Amino acid sequence: MSRFPIILSAPSGAGKTTIARQLMQRRSDIGYSVSCTTRLPRSGEVDGRDYHFVAVGEFNARRDRGEFAEWAEVHGKLYGTLRREVERVLGADRYVVMDIDVQGATQFKQSFPESVLIFLLPPSADVLLTRLTERRSEDREAVVRRLQGAREELKAIGTYHYVVVNDDLERAVEAVSSIVDAESVRHARIEQLDTQVGRIIEGLQKKIDGLGGH
Ligand code: ADP
Ligand code: 5GP
Repeated sequence: MSRFPIILSAPSGAGKTTIARQLMQRRSDIGYSVSCTTRLPRSGEVDGRDYHFVAVGEFNARRDRGEFAEWAEVHGKLYGTLRREVERVLGADRYVVMDIDVQGATQFKQSFPESVLIFLLPPSADVLLTRLTERRSEDREAVVRRLQGAREELKAIGTYHYVVVNDDLERAVEAVSSIVDAESVRHARIEQLDTQVGRIIEGLQKKIDGLGGH
C-alpha cells in the first residue's frame, strides 16, 4: 500500500504538535518529518527531534541548494521542510506527518500532490489564547504576533481537505487517525487495483464453469 504525506496546519497553539506526537505514539506506521527553523528552541525541545535549529545563514544555504520541499517565513522566522526527511519516512513505508503553515502547505502539495491536508481548529478564540499563554513559551509580543497570524491563517481553510476541531484531544487524535485510514483505501490510491480485480473475476469465472454455469 502506498503511503502519503499528512499535513497538519492550524493557528499556533491549536495543538498540532500535541496531536502529531499522539499519533506517532499510537501508530507505528506514522513517522514525523523534522523541519528546519531559525527560531530558538523552547524549553524541552530537542535539536534533531523537534526541529533542526539552524542560523539564518545555514537556512539560506540549504534553501539555495534546493534541500527544501517548501519553506516560508512564519511569525518573523524561517521554517522549511527537508525533502530528504519526507523521503526518509515514506521510504521506510510509513505515512509522514508534517506540521506546516498555510503558505508552506500549498507549496508542498505542488511537489507531493498525493498529500492529505488537514486543518486543526481551536474550539474558540478564548481557548486558543489560553493554550498559547499556558504553554508559556512566548512573551506577550510573540503571542500577539501568533494571534495576528491565526487571523490570517484561518482565511486559508478552504484549501484543506479536512477540518478537525481540537476540543477533546482524544477525539481529535481519533479523527485524524480515521482520516488516514479512510484515505489509504481511496480508490485512486490502491495500487494495481485492475490486476487484483481481474484476478478475482478470472477466479469467479473458473468457479462458475466448474459448477456448469456460464
Ligand atoms: P501547536 O503545535 O499547534 O502550536 P501545541 O501542540 O504546542 O500547539 O499545543 C498548545 C498547548 O495546548 C500545549 O500546552 C498543549 O498541551 C495544549 N493542548 C493541545 N491540545 C489540547 C486539547 N485538546 N485540550 C487541552 N489542551 C491542549
Ligand atoms: P512553532 O514555532 O510554534 O513550532 O511553529 C510556528 C508555525 O510554523 C506553525 O504555523 C507551524 O505550522 C509552522 N511550521 C513549522 N514547521 C514548518 C515547516 O517546515 N514549514 C512551514 N512552512 N511552516 C512550518
